[in-house]
Amino acid sequence: MTPSSPPSRLGAVLSVTFLLLASRVLADDAIDTTNYHSTRDLFSGFQELAAKGCQLQLLAHCAGESEDCIPSVRLFSSARPAKHRALLLFGEHARELITTETALQLASLLCFPAEEDPELASAVRRLRASAELLLFPAVNLQGRLRVERNGDYCLRVNKNGVDLNRNWAEHFAPPSSSADEAQVNPGSSPFSEPETRVLRDTAHEFRPDVFVSVHSGSLGMFTPPAFSAEVRGRSLRVVFLFFVL
Ligand SMILES: [Zn+2]
Repeated sequence: MTPSSPPSRLGAVLSVTFLLLASRVLADDAIDTTNYHSTRDLFSGFQELAAKGCQLQLLAHCAGESEDCIPSVRLFSSARPAKHRALLLFGEHARELITTETALQLASLLCFPAEEDPELASAVRRLRASAELLLFPAVNLQGRLRVERNGDYCLRVNKNGVDLNRNWAEHFAPPSSSADEAQVNPGSSPFSEPETRVLRDTAHEFRPDVFVSVHSGSLGMFTPPAFSAEVRGRSLRVVFLFFVL
């Protein structure tokens, strides 16, 4: 499969699938949207960018039941393979609503950079000419919907009570029975959750040069493997962000 092919073999990767999913899953009104988009409005925002002429596709990646589908946004895909490919995750933790806002803002900036900032506009044009981006704005879609509908604003885990950020094969630790650790429950085994399986398989097929997982609540930018400053005997630096989400 070439890099410009659809990014997942798990189920249909079609915008129409996403729309069907959205109409079923996002039927309810959500949180007070004074400061945040509801999930429904968030994806409407992406659709509006496409309607205005941005080269953007809304896709759905499914693992098994349709409820396990998670949406993605593909930017600047073309027939020829892109020189650079970036995979970006947002909303892995349900309560981190601001990260999904970041995804929409990023897409908006890349689609329609402010021309009053010619340097930025020029950089965006160069990026669009050579790169393809695949964004997952709401990795933990079911968890996010629980936050919206139930006001469960501290929820971190997915619908199965698993912390998706602990459900990868790297640095996997067996689950603890401690109630204190319920919000960091790694699941029964690596990739036990549909969300991480979708992301794993998508990454294998999309083969990104750049991978970024966006979180909130900590003013840090961590280099791999993130859980430790040591890897293969080398010391990695933790770079603190100079902006605040
Ligand atoms: Zn997080």
